[in-house]
Amino acid sequence: MRQVIIIGSGPAGFTAAIYAARANLNPVLVASSVEVGGELMKTTEVENFPGFPEGIQGPDLMAKMQEQAERFGTEVLYDDVTELDLDGDVKKVTLGSGTVLEAASIIYATGSAYRTLGIPGEERLSGHGVSWCATCDGFFFRDRTIAVVGGGDSAMEEATFLTKFASKVYVIHRKDTLRASKIMQERAFANDKIEFIWNSAVEEVLGEDATTGVRLRNTVDGTVTDLPVDGLFIAIGNDPRTHLVHGKLDLTPEGTIWVDGRSSRTSVPGVFAAGDVIDPTYRQAVTAAGSGTVAALDVEHFLAALSDGTAAEAALA
Ligand code: NDP
Repeated sequence: MRQVIIIGSGPAGFTAAIYAARANLNPVLVASSVEVGGELMKTTEVENFPGFPEGIQGPDLMAKMQEQAERFGTEVLYDDVTELDLDGDVKKVTLGSGTVLEAASIIYATGSAYRTLGIPGEERLSGHGVSWCATCDGFFFRDRTIAVVGGGDSAMEEATFLTKFASKVYVIHRKDTLRASKIMQERAFANDKIEFIWNSAVEEVLGEDATTGVRLRNTVDGTVTDLPVDGLFIAIGNDPRTHLVHGKLDLTPEGTIWVDGRSSRTSVPGVFAAGDVIDPTYRQAVTAAGSGTVAALDVEHFLAALSDGTAAEAALA
């Protein structure tokens, strides 16, 4: 049986792994069968992670975190978790391969998933002009006209990045003010290729086999217009990835996993959570990394109390 299994390979998961490995807990980290590294794999320049004054590319930062975790003995498994059994003292983690891992503790750091608009055409034209990842798909839109929907930092970042390829980028936002940070807003406002369409909701993605436009409804006067575009990038935030723990761990009204105060302790003893999956507010790479640290330290205390035979204390550790 393992001492700790870490689920998730974003900044929270890998930071928890670095701490757990350095504490000789021999962690195994279940990354993903598809993409290791979480949301930062889909961003470009990360300018606000301390220690990189010139900035660093998101995928490079994640590769370094993985390297650091492995250097201290973390075992990384490229597989998906399909089922969790969190009852009792032995936690069971079933993987896509059919392997069942057992551990005394779990750190759950699965992050968050892209939100969808839930409008006609969105799913059908996904991969045919509709995208959630500018760094993955921007290249296909050289000299094309694109729309980005959203008013947060992600939308500003995507729009600014897409101007490297596109001839024109519309930012469509349902309000007349942005949620994005000032610096990201100003960068987008200063870009000649970006035009803002305010107070507008995307109602439909138009096109048969490829995206040809979007149907917009003005959120103030209700008027409907069609805007011809070759692509639509959706950047309207994320939802915590909690589907594996529904009914097993308590959640908050925001849908994140409930943890006890500033700790990483969930409603089940021996199960700890970290990163975006517990954070409805800050959701930064650096706060996720800090949260991973908290989880590893909590696990260390929990396991120490277990081995002291103070099980009741361990449950509270
Ligand atoms: P946010 O939740 O910050 O913003 C989501 C935006 O999408 C809001 O403007 C929201 O509108 C809009 N929106 C939500 N749902 C819909 C919908 N159904 N239809 C239309 N619009 C919708 O998410 P982000 O992904 O932008 O950012 C998440 C976190 O990541 C933030 O903390 C952000 O700071 C951080 N981040 C930081 C970056 C950086 O610093 N380089 C880069 C990217 C993200 P409304 O405002 O009306 O609610």
